[in-house]
Amino acid sequence: MAPIPAVNAIANVIAYIGLGSNISAEVNLPAAAALLAHAPGIVLQRVSPVYRTPPWGYADQDAFLNAVAAVETTLPPLGVLDALQAVELRLDRQRAVQNGPRTADLDLLLYGAALIESERLIVPHPRMHQRGFVLVPLCDLAPRLMHPRLKRTMAELMGSVDVGGIQREALTLA
Ligand code: ADP
Ligand code: MG
Repeated sequence: MAPIPAVNAIANVIAYIGLGSNISAEVNLPAAAALLAHAPGIVLQRVSPVYRTPPWGYADQDAFLNAVAAVETTLPPLGVLDALQAVELRLDRQRAVQNGPRTADLDLLLYGAALIESERLIVPHPRMHQRGFVLVPLCDLAPRLMHPRLKRTMAELMGSVDVGGIQREALTLA
């Protein structure tokens, strides 16, 4: 008789989520992590330390707080994006200025080793390998993880970006 498949044989995927805020970030970053932890189909596994980054892009704004979360999910990639955008909406993200102030920015950095290029979603996130504020917290969780398109580890990628000014905060999430 064939073995009965175990219930936990459903293929869960490990995804990495970038979290950022620069409007009341001490409140909004923990709120974003808590909302993410309660999103249906998503189980929060680990959260990196929080880092403070000087403002970039549009300079006349507050510093950013950033972190990365590792989650386990049964959702398809666009389902994860929907969940992230629902969190952004709950926290009232304003999109008035590009790269300007934002209460919460949640990016799908990696979805297993998937390579996705669709209108709504590009994975790995197209700019993650250029951003110290993504690579520094990601390396706290998974330094030897391979970037599935660039075929370099997160630690190698971090070695080739500017991480100046990125400082660890006392704040902890979830
Ligand atoms: P960024 O996070 O790069 O500063 P935005 O958050 O303003 O920029 O971009 C949001 C848009 O990016 C959304 O419309 C979404 O569909 C698209 N997008 C494409 N790929 C991703 C991804 N991997 N994670 C989050 N949003 C993505
Ligand atoms: Mg975003």
